[in-house]
Amino acid sequence: MQPLRRGDSSSAVAEVRGMLASIGLLNNSDPRTAHVFDETTELAVRHFQQRRGISVDGRVGVETYAALTGAHWKLGDRVLAHESGSPLTGDDVTALQTQLIELGYHLVRADGVFEGDTAETLRSFQRDYGLIADGICGPDTMRALRQLGRRVVGGRPQLLRDLIAVADSGPSLLGKRIVLDAGHGGADTGVVAEGVTESELVWDLTSRLDGRLTALGVRTWSTRGPQNGATDEQRAKLANDVGADLVLSLHVDGFHTPEANGIATYYYGAGESASTIGERLADLAQRELVARTGMLDNRTHGKTWGLLRLTRMPTVRVEVGYLTAPGDRAKLCDPQYRDTIAEGLLVAVQRLYLPVADDPPTGVMRIPAHVR
Ligand SMILES: [Zn+2]
Repeated sequence: MQPLRRGDSSSAVAEVRGMLASIGLLNNSDPRTAHVFDETTELAVRHFQQRRGISVDGRVGVETYAALTGAHWKLGDRVLAHESGSPLTGDDVTALQTQLIELGYHLVRADGVFEGDTAETLRSFQRDYGLIADGICGPDTMRALRQLGRRVVGGRPQLLRDLIAVADSGPSLLGKRIVLDAGHGGADTGVVAEGVTESELVWDLTSRLDGRLTALGVRTWSTRGPQNGATDEQRAKLANDVGADLVLSLHVDGFHTPEANGIATYYYGAGESASTIGERLADLAQRELVARTGMLDNRTHGKTWGLLRLTRMPTVRVEVGYLTAPGDRAKLCDPQYRDTIAEGLLVAVQRLYLPVADDPPTGVMRIPAHVR
């Protein structure tokens, strides 16, 4: 290919100008210059070359043309795989490599070329995350990367270890260790409205959930008895001492006006130090509960409250409705509704441990009452 240069005028120049415009380096709105390699085009090419570490000559030869073509691709636009002979190149490859490096995997550089080392690194990630380790970045791997998302960028090895621990422990709930935390207790009743008491209601909820989890072979502990309460420190100590995999803390909310209603879920989070697994479990719990109950979605939020902060494992706190809202209260007083909440939380826990490829859509999964 003869390099395109200033002074040229052709359909090839038009293509180059189009590509420069699509990545924001050139204003290509004037049709009279759309096929002209003018001074502005040369400047844009130089700028692009500089950014890419290509030798800066302002001309479009083979290397610059290939880099420009690759700059179009966004991660997820196409399936990425190692093709020996003519490896795939592009910004989507760079994005994949960058994300793998940020997740803590070893890759020498994010050079935008999908070669054997990229495929090998991708296979390691896939194995860790419970995907088929084929070294191909297709829909399942994209889903996994999207789920990890921006939350794990920036080299946070502890979070990656948490993710791997979840993937390694397998999808079965058998033998998992879960601490159930019914809020309040004893003299601390929590919210009381129209004769309904939070501490009693959440005790009933955790008992229902306990029954479902135990039937599936989960080992459970409760942070308090039906009558007594406990401090956040005591609750966290129990969870830490038994080496729990997860802590589920249940509360109901109250407000000084009856209008406030709905479900919210909290995980440990303060800026960069968010718990990835906690956030994911909170997200799953919130989505399952809202889908199954039709309650208002008050979203998930990162907080540094005592129990969230003091526990070493992912902990989520679910506020399953407002006792002070007549509609929520009526639902919460219905035992069937409380079973629905227990089922939703059970499904959220199960989904946390399922490989991404097997993750069912929200609100549809049913879990049998007993291990088969
Ligand atoms: Zn409470």
